[in-house]
Amino acid sequence: MSESNTPHGHGEPLLRSMSWSALRGMTVVASPTTQASSSTGYAAAPSTGAGAGAGAGAGAGAGTDVVRPSPSAMPVGSSEQYNRLLENNRRWVSEITELQPDFFEVLARGQKPPYLLIGCSDSRVPPDMLTQTMPGEIFITRNVANLVVNTDMNIMTVLQYAVEVLKVQHIIVMGHTECGGVRASMSNDSHGLIDKWLRNIKDVSRLHHKELSAIADPNKRFAKLVELNVVEQVYNLYKTSVVQHAWATGHHVQVHGWVCDIRTGLIHDLHVENRPEWNEISKLYEFNFPAHPNATEQERLHPVESMRNEMSARSGEHHHEH
Ligand SMILES: [Zn+2]
Repeated sequence: MSESNTPHGHGEPLLRSMSWSALRGMTVVASPTTQASSSTGYAAAPSTGAGAGAGAGAGAGAGTDVVRPSPSAMPVGSSEQYNRLLENNRRWVSEITELQPDFFEVLARGQKPPYLLIGCSDSRVPPDMLTQTMPGEIFITRNVANLVVNTDMNIMTVLQYAVEVLKVQHIIVMGHTECGGVRASMSNDSHGLIDKWLRNIKDVSRLHHKELSAIADPNKRFAKLVELNVVEQVYNLYKTSVVQHAWATGHHVQVHGWVCDIRTGLIHDLHVENRPEWNEISKLYEFNFPAHPNATEQERLHPVESMRNEMSARSGEHHHEH
């Protein structure tokens, strides 16, 4: 979302010189260029093209400059910037195939990723790079502020395909600190079409109004809303018949909520399965499914509760290990 955060300066050469494979296993990541953000962190987006090529639309309207996109108006250097992507690709392919000659042949045979990740479109949070996973390992969909919207054909299609066809074992919602979408939802500025999308986050604010309004520091309130937004998107996944049906038929898919801290690059598991609110609303959202030979009666009648219990037990085990 933070369009003004285009990587440049000292960060770029380092990233450019490292191939994907070289990045694997590395612990040092180029520090992103910091910049002052606008009040919403979003407001600059629609206006970036406004000044370029002023005069192109002279006479189109009383006192307004209409800018018509034209290839000749492309800034000098943009083709080099663009070509870099294709050059990177060719170099990366040759590096990978040198290490493993049949890498792409194997990939072409099909995918069986164990994870579905729903992330934010923000360029600073690439899920596969952050988790050091390779092509074929994570099924990914990203949108502004990592939302799971019931009527979004895209995400519901991705979800159904991932669960029912790919049979993923884990679904992860990953939000991140400094999310421009979440920040924009906290302001009263209008940004056009995206207002409708961000309305979903305003609803999250409304659901957690008490907790949020008790936080005096606006930055901490922002960080809390990022977290609560992830929690609610996990609940939105719980609410789907796709996730519930998986459990009701013995497919034990787990749903996780993460926040990536942009300042450290570290991902935090929110352990949404241990949060109490769902227990109060589960009766409203849980479907009962017909008897299925692969599922227990508990899984069939209370699919989300079954998942949360199992996940809680597992995270408890995990904590014991440390
Ligand atoms: Zn974001």
